[in-house]
Amino acid sequence: MTANLLDFDLEGLAVFCEGLGEKRFRATQLFRWIHQRGASDFDQMSDLAKSLREKLKTTAHIAALPVLTQHISADGTIKWLFDVGDGNAVESVFIPEDDRGTLCVSSQAGCAVGCRFCSTGHQGFSRNLSTAEILAQLWFAEHFLRKHLNTEERVISNVVMMGMGEPLQNYSALVPALKAMLDDHGYGLSRRRVTVSTSGVVPMIDRLAQDCPVALAVSLHAPNDALRDVLVPLNRKYPIDELLQACERYLAHAPRDFITFEYCMLDGVNDQPEHARQLIELVQRHGHQGLRCKFNLIPFNPFPASGLHRSPQARVQEFAKTLLDAGIVTTVRKTRGDDIDAACGQLAGDVRDRTRVQERMSTQRQAQEQVIRFTPLSSSSASAKDPSQ
Ligand code: SAH
Ligand code: SF4
Repeated sequence: MTANLLDFDLEGLAVFCEGLGEKRFRATQLFRWIHQRGASDFDQMSDLAKSLREKLKTTAHIAALPVLTQHISADGTIKWLFDVGDGNAVESVFIPEDDRGTLCVSSQAGCAVGCRFCSTGHQGFSRNLSTAEILAQLWFAEHFLRKHLNTEERVISNVVMMGMGEPLQNYSALVPALKAMLDDHGYGLSRRRVTVSTSGVVPMIDRLAQDCPVALAVSLHAPNDALRDVLVPLNRKYPIDELLQACERYLAHAPRDFITFEYCMLDGVNDQPEHARQLIELVQRHGHQGLRCKFNLIPFNPFPASGLHRSPQARVQEFAKTLLDAGIVTTVRKTRGDDIDAACGQLAGDVRDRTRVQERMSTQRQAQEQVIRFTPLSSSSASAKDPSQ
């Protein structure tokens, strides 16, 4: 089997090229063709020597993931379902906004953490994605959108690892993918525009700080261990105090950064005034003069069999006000793409009925030609205004 070049960050590609007896700068050229130009055919790469192109043809390939479906929401959000083989599928979501274009990327097929309120968690764990499978989501989305918006400019300005899976439980595949996103010869995204969201894998938070300190979002969801143990089972292994200490250490590596705490608002479960007060106390107890953080309150997106309900809007606002009054920056996340089940926590890879998934996938593959139809976004809503930030 030949190597999929989407599996490499620039360093990995340089090692691969050296193995072919080629100079390292060839890897830079190749990397740019792949990630900046979206090339998948070696014959397109006109500034590479013919001999190298021939060598690559026998040792390597550049393979995207097959797209099973594409859905476009009334608000412009696009969700793709990708086939990753053996009856597994993962989803990516593109969210256009006035000043940015964000891609929400999956890191695993399913998830082993099993959070109470998460559709992916209910699905169980199938397997880790490879670096190529993580990067292929960005590679496909970026070049697909450029083509359909008829632009040479970058469309995706931000990446959030908030799709299916727990990225820090797939660390070795995640880091090269992040490095390719940040690389100036790759996607050239600034470190603050790439966010890893985690349910709290403490040792890997420390490693990420060393290896690739991108923006960190922590899915907190509860202000005390008794409640968090139930909502986010990983808390039994890494309780809140240890998690917040890891956040403090992370910030030591990224002095001007802050941690984003995600908090899914569940009616009657974690949305009471007492919970807000406990959160304030928690944040104030950590870090020097309190932990540098921001709260993002997420209205719960229901899915069948969760047995949970979204907090009423007034209660979310009241909760936000309590945090704000204590000086904690707090936002309430706008729900995007919920008409196409693309909102947070609704990503289930469409494999809810696992017994029939193979059959459905082959039908979907046949229908693919018809399904992929693109409704152009307004160019202002999809272009990255200031990619350098
Ligand atoms: N596994 C990682 C990243 C993927 S989940 C994590 O848990 O952080 C991305 C975000 O969506 C997390 O904050 C998660 O808690 C939240 N989420 C999961 N299910 C949700 C739901 N049903 N409604 C709203 N947010 C949800
Ligand atoms: Fe996994 Fe994140 Fe869902 Fe929890 S919220 S089950 S960690 S994907």
